[in-house]
Amino acid sequence: MKFADRIAGFLDSFQLKHTQSDKRSAMNLLVFQLIYLVLIAATIMLSIFVDHGGRLWFYLLLLGGLMAVIGVALFFNLRGRFRVSTWLTAFCMIAGPWLSILLDPNVAAGDFLPLIYVGMSIQLCSILLRESMTIILAIIQLAAVVAMILVCPALRQNNWPSLVAFIVFTAVIGVLYGFSNRRQLEEIDKQRNQLVLDEAKLRALSVRDPLTGLYNRRYMEETFDREIQRAIRKQRQLSVVMADIDGFKEINDSFGHVLGDQMLIKVSALLMKNIRASDVACRYGGDEFCLILPDCTLEEGIRRAEALRCVIEQLGADTETKADHVTLSLGVAAMPESGLSRETLLAAADSALYSSKHAGRNRVNGVKCPQKESI
Ligand code: GH3
Ligand code: MG
Repeated sequence: MKFADRIAGFLDSFQLKHTQSDKRSAMNLLVFQLIYLVLIAATIMLSIFVDHGGRLWFYLLLLGGLMAVIGVALFFNLRGRFRVSTWLTAFCMIAGPWLSILLDPNVAAGDFLPLIYVGMSIQLCSILLRESMTIILAIIQLAAVVAMILVCPALRQNNWPSLVAFIVFTAVIGVLYGFSNRRQLEEIDKQRNQLVLDEAKLRALSVRDPLTGLYNRRYMEETFDREIQRAIRKQRQLSVVMADIDGFKEINDSFGHVLGDQMLIKVSALLMKNIRASDVACRYGGDEFCLILPDCTLEEGIRRAEALRCVIEQLGADTETKADHVTLSLGVAAMPESGLSRETLLAAADSALYSSKHAGRNRVNGVKCPQKESI
């Protein structure tokens, strides 16, 4: 496997370990932790090669300890424990400068350079934590810096107001940057969620018939081909039912198109209500419907088509109005006896429907086509 493919595979499995909302932050944290480890390693090298004034072992121990904690944080991040990992990393950002301030005797003697790192630690925390937490930690650290200056007279000999101003500025910049960054990310997330919703709506519109809410013919054709392949693979049977409203033209002519539309909606709702979740009901065109019934033999298909016919016949049975009454003629074909392709099965069901119409309407007819096809 190529190196790039391995990296892509690793990143995919890394993302899968995190929740949707944490994915991006966890990835940022991972990059941050790796860079931080490299920077600490570089600082260790620097400490070894430059004049350390007798503090080498102290700094090696401190930097080694930080590396170990970041390593543990990285481990948690890789395991999908993003929150723990963030807090461990933030802890290192704060602990690093403060351990050197408190344990290095040169600081009390007037070396205030380690105090500058407090500003950097606040900046880094603003990348990892929410603004409110960054502000709280910045105030605590600023108070500690002022306390250090008050306690150690040697530190006051330096330009300490400038140091305090520097820490305040870096804290403000960090918080503002974190705030604007978070707002932009939230906006991107909002737009992405809206896109997902719009896509789902568009997909629903593209596969449904707008009047009846049944699937449209295009969706039926795609699904039918898939179901046929599955039936062949699993050696199962499959039935298809073609149904057409009897004398629908007359209903339209006598009572108007609006009532005709309402009748189409009622019939569709009844069809949908009386099929299984795995069945597919579609409006094939005009007043014609097509039902795909997976795992269903021809005999079972005929029995279920008859049940549907009875349900539609009962529609409006308790009213006298002729406009509320409607009947269906149905034709049933099944795989494998009627055919092994969408075209032959639809043609077989259609010819069965034609026979039902010819035999007087409001009835079901099943057909076995003689065409021979091999699987
Ligand atoms: P048959 O028993 O032989 O099926 O007779 P029929 O009158 O139902 O004949 P046919 O199925 O050919 O007629 C379909 C009619 O359906 C013709 C057309 O005006 C009407 N139609 C097609 N689409 C719609 C629609 O969306 N709304 C309404 N109201 N009528 C439609
Ligand atoms: Mg009709």
